[in-house]
Amino acid sequence: MTAAVRCQGIVQIYKARELEVVALRDVDLVVEEGETVALLGPSGAGKSTLLWLMAGLLRPSAGRLWLHGTEVSRLPQATLDRLRAAEIGVVLQNPARNLIPYATPAQNLAFAQRRPDRRRIGELLERVGLAGVRRPAGGLSGGEQQRLAVAVALANRPRLLLADEPTSQLDLASGRAVIELIRQTAAEYGTTVVAVTHDEAVSRALGRTVTIRDGRVGAEGRRGEDLVVVGREGALQLPPEYHHLLPPGSRVRVEAIEDGVALRRVEP
Ligand code: ADP
Ligand code: MG
Repeated sequence: MTAAVRCQGIVQIYKARELEVVALRDVDLVVEEGETVALLGPSGAGKSTLLWLMAGLLRPSAGRLWLHGTEVSRLPQATLDRLRAAEIGVVLQNPARNLIPYATPAQNLAFAQRRPDRRRIGELLERVGLAGVRRPAGGLSGGEQQRLAVAVALANRPRLLLADEPTSQLDLASGRAVIELIRQTAAEYGTTVVAVTHDEAVSRALGRTVTIRDGRVGAEGRRGEDLVVVGREGALQLPPEYHHLLPPGSRVRVEAIEDGVALRRVEP
């Protein structure tokens, strides 16, 4: 069986003015079809970046990414856009970005559909508890907006649903409703789900939890086996657990070795 998502050695470097930020370093991750996965980790760990990559909204600086067996890191933009529209539903972190504020819930769904399907719209509105609601999306409560955002993401029956912090701005009851909605959808339609969260309730409701920390997935870096990404002009950013060994301002001797270089601190 082909995996829904396969990440291999994914590196993401952002360029912000003069700085380079390494958001992901060597991420390997496989999400099987029909699996529901919570991506858990502290703020700044790289969760949104990984989700954006899976959504085809961002291209990795290095590494390879497959969606349902297609290597998307190599696809032309137009092909990637088509694949994304056909197979992926995304709920972005900022609820306002998922909806057209002056349009009703039904209009939001109609706009999201690639082919008009009124029955599907009715069914989705029913499912998210917004049947008969005719106020513009901008006037809905936070919980209603988020449920509508999930419905919009499901408008084209995606095989893969990606959600970034779907409950972070909601009260407990609304958050529960959104979690339940995602869970039931996955169970009924066989949709693969990856949800970024730091809400324990979300991760408990999903089948598997993947932890991401300092841009790395899974096991903490073992000493001597860590991966550092080389940026522009040879810039290196050491993972935080090495900072005490080489604090800022350290003088380091660089020695060429067989397959690279070794760094050794020069005692002051
Ligand atoms: P999380 O979602 O886990 O909070 P992000 O993926 O948003 O983490 O960010 C990971 C790292 O990348 C952070 O250090 C963040 O500041 C940085 N980052 C995210 N987006 C950008 C961007 N567009 N430009 C520069 N740095 C960014
Ligand atoms: Mg984020």
